[in-house]
Amino acid sequence: MPTCRHCYSVYPREQFIHGNGPRSQVCVRCGVEKGLVTEEEVASLYNNSTANARFSALARRWSPLMWLSVLWTAWIVFLNDVEPWGLYTLILLALFSLVVPLYMFFFSSKHMAVMARLTPEYERPKGH
Ligand SMILES: [Zn+2]
Repeated sequence: MPTCRHCYSVYPREQFIHGNGPRSQVCVRCGVEKGLVTEEEVASLYNNSTANARFSALARRWSPLMWLSVLWTAWIVFLNDVEPWGLYTLILLALFSLVVPLYMFFFSSKHMAVMARLTPEYERPKGH
């Protein structure tokens, strides 16, 4: 994958603008920021609303794991030796730990659909 010569980021080929001279090896974001192309010309640009929507979809996808680790940490620190609630919450946490991977597995296709919907349409021109 090529590297942008302005921001030194590595992106797939469709994230680069086309052209020679100042437009060669420039990613779409740097192209828009430096005025080499307009936002309408580059179909593969992730604008702010798309980027925010993708970020929130990712957060929704991975938040159960974050909550699980927070709850396990809370149990280890606070509830470990409280009788009898330590045992009850341990059973609940074990159940959640078993259910969360299944939940994430069954909703992975929905997440992939959301991410596909939030990926800008782009058709690579011939020769690129
Ligand atoms: Zn760049």
